[in-house]
Amino acid sequence: MSDYAKPLPVPSPISLPFFEAVKRHELVVMRCRSCGTCRLIERETCPECWSNDYEWVRASGRGSVYSFVVMHQRLHPAFAGDIPYNVALIDLEEGPRLVSNIVGCPNEALKVSMAVEVVFDDVSDELTLPRFRPTFA
Ligand code: ZN
Repeated sequence: MSDYAKPLPVPSPISLPFFEAVKRHELVVMRCRSCGTCRLIERETCPECWSNDYEWVRASGRGSVYSFVVMHQRLHPAFAGDIPYNVALIDLEEGPRLVSNIVGCPNEALKVSMAVEVVFDDVSDELTLPRFRPTFA
């Protein structure tokens, strides 16, 4: 039993391969077998060509910050100790955008378009979440 108190996603039959991959410390995206467009979980249908034929492929883990906010309000008691914390939209190299947090960087240094790479946060025995850190290449 984990003592992790923050709300956690509950994998669905569609998203389970994503969470299984993240647990293995691999980031994956859905790729349409018809047109090649990549997307993230919870969409069985390709937004470009409406095909339901897709495969899971490993993503590079690299991306950039599309936008972010720094939370100063306690919207859930479990986040009280983290305030102020960031919530960021990350554009993956493969195209999909996901919601995550940027770690390893003070909130004051966050910038739109900054290059980031995935890191894996094992929040419980069952679940790992992808977070992102600045890429210093
Ligand atoms: Zn498609």
